[in-house]
Amino acid sequence: MKARFSPALVREDLRDFAGYSSARTSHTGAPARIWLNANEAASASAIDPEGKQRRYPQPQPRDLVEVLASCYGVDPAMVITGRGSDEVIDVIVRAVCLPGADGIVISSPTFGMYAVSARLHGVPVHDVPQTDHGDRWSVDVAAIAHTVRETKSKIVFLASPGNPTGSVIPTADLLWLATELSDAALLVVDEAYQEFSDQPSVAYQIGDQPNIAVLRTLSKAHGLAGARVGTGIMHPQFAQVLSRVQAPYPVPEPVRAIAVAALGDVARAATEERIQATITLRSELAQILAGLSSVTATYAGQANFVLVRSTGPDAVLRLLAEHGIVVRDMRHLPGLQDAIRVTVGTAADLEAIRAAFTESGAGKSPIDVDQAKQRIT
Ligand SMILES: *Cc1c(COP(=O)(O)O)cnc(C)c1O
Repeated sequence: MKARFSPALVREDLRDFAGYSSARTSHTGAPARIWLNANEAASASAIDPEGKQRRYPQPQPRDLVEVLASCYGVDPAMVITGRGSDEVIDVIVRAVCLPGADGIVISSPTFGMYAVSARLHGVPVHDVPQTDHGDRWSVDVAAIAHTVRETKSKIVFLASPGNPTGSVIPTADLLWLATELSDAALLVVDEAYQEFSDQPSVAYQIGDQPNIAVLRTLSKAHGLAGARVGTGIMHPQFAQVLSRVQAPYPVPEPVRAIAVAALGDVARAATEERIQATITLRSELAQILAGLSSVTATYAGQANFVLVRSTGPDAVLRLLAEHGIVVRDMRHLPGLQDAIRVTVGTAADLEAIRAAFTESGAGKSPIDVDQAKQRIT
């Protein structure tokens, strides 16, 4: 690491916090033959004859950290893994913000967990809304820097590509913001959908700009949402701080095994194919949705979903539901009172959507979605 990590970015009362000392972390490493230090069972469970699950796991399993680091192209010392990026978000908020004192800044519409973690931790949330350009969204980094200073906030959370916008924040904007904030605040860039985007990860900039942290996940492109594996990439000193704040054994042993297998060559080649197929189907899905007479804006973005605005979101939701197709109603989010988010599925899923709309006459034909709605109800 060229640049040093500023201790001012960590909660003052936690700077010398050692965390929980578990049997796993307190063992000195002297050669051992008989392990009687963690109150584990003396023999294996009947459902686990080989005893693979008998011992507590390593807090940060070495092999998993190494394959994650290689997958994301960073040094293993910069990696911390946990139960989805959701847990990493929560640990970052707790490590950086003093409840009732420090704030976070978000840019709506955005992923809900930043505000949820902040609220549960007693940390105020300040919003600098994004600008809607009709086919994409942009984040105002100058206004965000201003708000950080005004509110004395300690973290900025930005998703790129964004959820639910799909829009990418230019690397130059992210670097400008991180430089502006330097010792004052941490910039967390959530790259949950980076695999679907054509912009490189900002993780490669952490060496020069140590107040950046990047979030990655196996839940989206890698097809392992059920396994719960998220990764934080950050300055090694900050990764050390987070590992002390995190729960003692965040990665269950079966999850470690699945994740390591999922990052092997064979699975990664298949993941790469799935990503390419998703990108192709994304533009097809966007075309289908843009062709509906009730759709007023289409944001195809660079993730694995398409966001649309509609003059009749209820009719669209109900029509799809009639065909057993569930999409995400986004109308609860500020600025998205007429919006729906559709995940890119398989080619067959796409055909099911196309068929539902064609059948109802909701397409470019003279019948609009309102009429389709009357026919359904
Ligand atoms: C889905 C999503 C996540 C959640 O990731 P997990 O690793 O499953 O917790 C994080 N950030 C964004 C922007 C997402 O859309």
